[in-house]
Amino acid sequence: TDDFFKNIISHAKEYGFVFPSSEIYDGLSAVYDYGQMGSELKNNLKTYWWKSMVQLNENIVGIDAAIFMHPTTWKASGHVDGFNDPMIDNKDSKKRYRADQLIEDKIDRYEKDGKTDKATRLQKDLDDAITADDLVRLKAIIEEHHIVCPISGTKNWTDVRQFNLMFATQMGAMAEEAEKVYLRPETAQGIFVNFLNVQKTGRMKIPFGIAQIGKAFRNEVIARQFIMRMREFEQMELQFFIRPGTEMEWYEKWKATRLKWHLALGADATKYRYHDHVKPAHYANAAVDIEYQFPFGFKEVEGIHSRTDFDLKQHQEYSKKKIQYFDPEINQNYVPYVVETSIGLDRLFLTVLANSLVEEDLSTEEKKDSRVVLKFHPAIAPVKAAVLPLTKKDGLPDKAREIMTKLKLDFNIQYDEKDAIGKRYRRQDAIGTPFCITVDYQTLEDNTVTIRHRDSMEQERVPAADLRNIIGELVSW
Ligand code: ATP
Repeated sequence: TDDFFKNIISHAKEYGFVFPSSEIYDGLSAVYDYGQMGSELKNNLKTYWWKSMVQLNENIVGIDAAIFMHPTTWKASGHVDGFNDPMIDNKDSKKRYRADQLIEDKIDRYEKDGKTDKATRLQKDLDDAITADDLVRLKAIIEEHHIVCPISGTKNWTDVRQFNLMFATQMGAMAEEAEKVYLRPETAQGIFVNFLNVQKTGRMKIPFGIAQIGKAFRNEVIARQFIMRMREFEQMELQFFIRPGTEMEWYEKWKATRLKWHLALGADATKYRYHDHVKPAHYANAAVDIEYQFPFGFKEVEGIHSRTDFDLKQHQEYSKKKIQYFDPEINQNYVPYVVETSIGLDRLFLTVLANSLVEEDLSTEEKKDSRVVLKFHPAIAPVKAAVLPLTKKDGLPDKAREIMTKLKLDFNIQYDEKDAIGKRYRRQDAIGTPFCITVDYQTLEDNTVTIRHRDSMEQERVPAADLRNIIGELVSW
């Protein structure tokens, strides 16, 4: 599985999906750039989310709030005082770690070694210590379980300390008048502060939701696992506003809906599980993670939280503005409750790569052969079809370009005439293109082409005039 993860990272780089940021300067820790294929895939994932969350639900609307927010926002939300990770340093290697992650790695190791009881007990210990914010207990757990530094192999640890994850910068040109502002660590607060704006201008009636896709920034203590834990990442969040007392019903509904959404991308259901939080964070009365089985174990991809009226009440208190909703059905004013679904786009991207990358053995008795394929759901594939003239002569390229020009308006299409046809098919397999359209001599006679299907590698002959409909059908949701 370590090898599989390495394959994912190198494939992502080799085919233009993900590059380390500013790589010519040796990269920037936990920051990544999406390349020509990656940005297409990412856009398609956003579209999938936006369509299913916003456009298919009459009572959900989308916004796009700024990354900078008034600094009081983060006091009200609790991030200035409480958005911390417990960190610990190893005195020998001088390396810094998240105390809870060191313990989680130990839990994974117990699980791998078949020590399930030990793993369960340690998980409970960890949850208790985190909920109680008990830094001394975290240190004690690390000692009790003989956790060593992955670099130095020693147990020479400092005490556990809190580390605030927000990035701060200055706003204003003059040093004297400059105000400290933060890069938002989550998109949710941009929704809460706009609650009344959207509710009033959109004449929204509870229950209703506000959705948003946008960047978030966290100064993660340690960078690891590729785009799993980044310092700049993207979130897709829904805040669903409801009548107090109905939160458990909506929480269960969203919990089920969101898992279905993941599975609709064609993933293997056994790779997903729920992880219920026994003791949710201070702002929530119920919380669950949707976890995916990455090559390095089950990890959170999406969180669903019943956030109560915590955030709106806090903003009401700090802004001294009434944030209430008049519910005509029960003739009452109240501060709405909220159920949140929050997914990391980059983590979703990684699950999609992990779900899709396969190496297939195509060996026959005569010769050894294999191919690497990204078996994306056609709707999210970066390139929908490649148009390939069989040869570079006799007018085939012109004909192929003519076909491509017609398809370009509706789909992301590639044209490729270099190398033997088999090699070109393989290149498209490696970026996950679901269809290859081959233009050959028969095309010049009867205007038909062959379509080669990525997964089955089967070919069929169809009229070129039907391509738009055929591809449209195949790549739709
Ligand atoms: P973790 O425990 O892994 O740090 P979290 O519980 O802090 O995650 P939330 O605050 O619930 O995460 O954020 C919602 C979603 O945002 C997560 O489910 C995850 O997909 C994504 N996310 C959070 N932090 C990062 C990060 N540093 N890099 C990439 N995605 C992230």
